[in-house]
Amino acid sequence: MTDPLSLHIQNGRVIDPANGIDEVRDLFVEGGVIVGSKPKGAKVIDAGNKVVTPGLIDIHVHFREPGQSHKETIATGSRAAAMGGFTTVVCMPNTNPVADSPATIAWIQERAATTACVNVLCTGAITRGIAGEEMSPIGALAAAGVVALTDDGHCIQNHGVMRRAVEYARQFGLPVMDHCQEATLSADGVMNEGEWSTRLGLPGWPSLAEDLIVARNILLAEETDHPIHCQHISSARSVRLLREARKRGIPITAEACPHHISLTDESLKTFDANFKVNPPLRTAADIEEIIAGIADGTITILASDHAPHATYEKEVELDRAPFGMLGLETELAVFLEILLYQRKVLTLPQIIAMLTINPARLLRIDRGTLSVGAPADITILDPDQAWIYDKNSSPSLSRNTPFHGFSLHGRALRTIVGGRTVWDLETGFTS
Ligand SMILES: [Zn+2]
Repeated sequence: MTDPLSLHIQNGRVIDPANGIDEVRDLFVEGGVIVGSKPKGAKVIDAGNKVVTPGLIDIHVHFREPGQSHKETIATGSRAAAMGGFTTVVCMPNTNPVADSPATIAWIQERAATTACVNVLCTGAITRGIAGEEMSPIGALAAAGVVALTDDGHCIQNHGVMRRAVEYARQFGLPVMDHCQEATLSADGVMNEGEWSTRLGLPGWPSLAEDLIVARNILLAEETDHPIHCQHISSARSVRLLREARKRGIPITAEACPHHISLTDESLKTFDANFKVNPPLRTAADIEEIIAGIADGTITILASDHAPHATYEKEVELDRAPFGMLGLETELAVFLEILLYQRKVLTLPQIIAMLTINPARLLRIDRGTLSVGAPADITILDPDQAWIYDKNSSPSLSRNTPFHGFSLHGRALRTIVGGRTVWDLETGFTS
């Protein structure tokens, strides 16, 4: 890789929520970090009429390595991230083998160091094999550099195990993230339990199964006084539970995904498995409450749950298809479309905060800001640019998106990681 250049990013609208900045100004980079004055021989990048933000962070992606590299690799997933404007992603541990040991974490880190074009951070599994029974070596995972613990893809059903895990995580200063799904209630459900599951004759996955675990996690976060983060919230009642708990100061946080604020369970009437996701698409009333929760600060983080699957795996009967959809390339635009343009519930700086400093604070990483001295991870974007998403232009190895052909507004133009431009809309990838 080439040495990072000195950069002079000129005349952009710099939005840096961590420092309360939203103004047209210049930004300088030297030696891979943000600096306060113009370095000698800096390369000029014209950002006039564009927005300059800290590199976006997605705390919920599945890159499928090791074990399922036909769906996605760390290399291809990181390219999708860069095209979406993301400079840091956090990988879920449900790989094969599961990321439940320092050896697997080291393998992923090595793979990321040699093949990824953005920062790839690891989570460690809470339990061995994500089986929900025996705890992983949490101290060793912390030492290996995981940024959080989660059994994403599964949810620990045994409350005693979950409590012990949160207590251990607390000792090592690691946040716990949870995929909230009570298994006896969700059972073999493939879509939201409701009018559409009845009409289509498909087994339902009721929102009650999410609500119960959100309530469990609120109680555990209160009991242990340690942060628990509820992943991909899909249900209105979960939002209400979180709102009440956060008012009482309980260290509980939550994230929302693009599909859970833009699509409903009615989408499944075509039996297109690209709309099958876990937790499932729910109702317009759920969308209302999730958007209300984003607007009032109950939900503080936006994430994709980018979950690639091969076409042949998705092109089967709906109940046999795997859960999940792509997200990295379209998430910024879908969030802008819904939250900024259609519903007008947040300002652009507020949306950028939910994609930068808020996840960085949860994970306790020194990114998500344009402070002097911070790593020069920078996204240049045009929040107005109209474009149509074409899945066939994706660098991902998979094509399972529900957003193919959508007309969107807002798009990353250039993604800079540690002072190096890794992707540019006009010229493509640097390497
Ligand atoms: Zn999940």
